[in-house]
Amino acid sequence: MRQIAEMACIQIEVTNACTHACHNCTRYVRHVGEAFFMELPAIEAALRTLVDFPGTVGLMGGEPTLHPSFETICELYRQHLPRERRELWTSGFRWDELEPVIHETFDAERISFNSHEGPSLHHPLLVAPLDVVEDPQDMWDLIRECPVQSHWSASINPRGAWFCECAGGAAMAFGEMDGLPVENGWWRRPLEDWNAQITYYCQLCGGCLPLGALPDNSCTPVTMSNAFRVECSIRNRVFLLSGGMGRLAQDDIKRLKAAYRPRQYRNFIAHCPEDERRSWPCTR
Ligand code: SF4
Ligand code: SF4
Repeated sequence: MRQIAEMACIQIEVTNACTHACHNCTRYVRHVGEAFFMELPAIEAALRTLVDFPGTVGLMGGEPTLHPSFETICELYRQHLPRERRELWTSGFRWDELEPVIHETFDAERISFNSHEGPSLHHPLLVAPLDVVEDPQDMWDLIRECPVQSHWSASINPRGAWFCECAGGAAMAFGEMDGLPVENGWWRRPLEDWNAQITYYCQLCGGCLPLGALPDNSCTPVTMSNAFRVECSIRNRVFLLSGGMGRLAQDDIKRLKAAYRPRQYRNFIAHCPEDERRSWPCTR
């Protein structure tokens, strides 16, 4: 697991509203009751704490362009961060309308564009390590090596600051614990300070398990420890794996790891709809 200060990017999660409802979404969008929209003063306060963070700062959702003040948020990013430190993740909602402000704010190569309208994958996050890893020592080894936290981002959302954006996304979606205060230098805090988040969220989150990612339009597997968080329903293809997966012993984990290619969700990078069309001609 990395210290937050070593991360290349920290996300500000301005909403968990989305125009899609992908299975196994890191914001658990299809399980969210009422979406949140982060208040502008909170977004500005978050940006102020990241002025001296050495990495980039992502503008992320859900779908961030659904935020009713998206253009003002872009203005705040321009005001507080140099251009090369601003990033955007979008599935392209209102792209034609918002393209001028998007390009005014973000360098093209710092826009991650994924329409989620074709084949796209997500990791089964509601398969809890606590339920499927036989030996707690093996479970904590997997958590310590989690490929998501080791390569991806911490985050800020209305509940506070998070050592891993998947934990923050779960806290918002399921109305759970508060994050650490978003105050000056929060991202310099050592990993020990994040232990309460790590202990609660990582035991429930499949991000550290060497399991294959699933297509966004397939299904959401859920294990017992997560059953209290979501409504399982055959109609919505949210399935409770009650004993269906078995427990992973050390040999199983070794075997799965040998074949595991973490974080390979698409075989190309897109910064705009045209990039996607070029890489994925059969979907448009
Ligand atoms: S587009 Fe992204 S945020 Fe929206 S449901 Fe899919 S994975 Fe989640
Ligand atoms: S197990 Fe989940 S919450 Fe924990 S670090 Fe990995 S992705 Fe984040």
